[in-house]
Amino acid sequence: MTFEELNLDPNVLKAVREAGYTQPTPIQSQAIPHALTARDVLGIAQTGTGKTAAFTMPMITLLNKGRARARMPRSLILCPTRELAAQVAENFDTYGKYCKLSKALLIGGVSFGDQDRLIDRGVDVLIATPGRLLDHFERGKLMLTGIEVMVVDEADRMLDMGFIPDIERIFKLTPFTRQTLFFSATMPPEITRLTEEFLSNPVRVEV
Ligand code: AMP
Repeated sequence: MTFEELNLDPNVLKAVREAGYTQPTPIQSQAIPHALTARDVLGIAQTGTGKTAAFTMPMITLLNKGRARARMPRSLILCPTRELAAQVAENFDTYGKYCKLSKALLIGGVSFGDQDRLIDRGVDVLIATPGRLLDHFERGKLMLTGIEVMVVDEADRMLDMGFIPDIERIFKLTPFTRQTLFFSATMPPEITRLTEEFLSNPVRVEV
């Protein structure tokens, strides 16, 4: 399979070509077509498989089809650590280089000021760690009722770090109608339970 066959936004394809990728990885060729038809996806994949692109590329494609800019964030990517969130944000910039989408990276360890200003301006995508996202929510800075697509990345690491209650709370703050792309390297029982509660008839993709 080629990237051209995946129905991605032409601007994403252009960025993919520039990145020098010749062929989608297995998680990409299996997850992207389902993600683009608005299905929920349960992706079981380790780091290094290209999973970040497997959720970022369809997300950008879907957001680009809708309104160019909204006051409320339209998508949310949750990551277990600041480092991973920053890496996902870099990927988003790479694949979204030719798309006019705005993002805010909401991670701890830095002051609220710059993050507040981005949120106030209106962003399409939030890339966040759960604690800092909920901090913003509790400060009354953030509405999650406009979320169309939500990603949970490295869910099993979230479990190890004690984030499951936060994730459940965040799921409940987003619309029931959202699309969910959920990634984990392993499927311990607590993660299976979470997917059963919050994913709707997901396509399971395992690499
Ligand atoms: P990830 O599993 O998302 O951490 O990605 C691992 C690495 O693979 C990253 O450095 C990506 O830039 C790279 N990558 C992702 N997709 C592809 C692809 N289709 N072809 C070549 N490299 C890729």
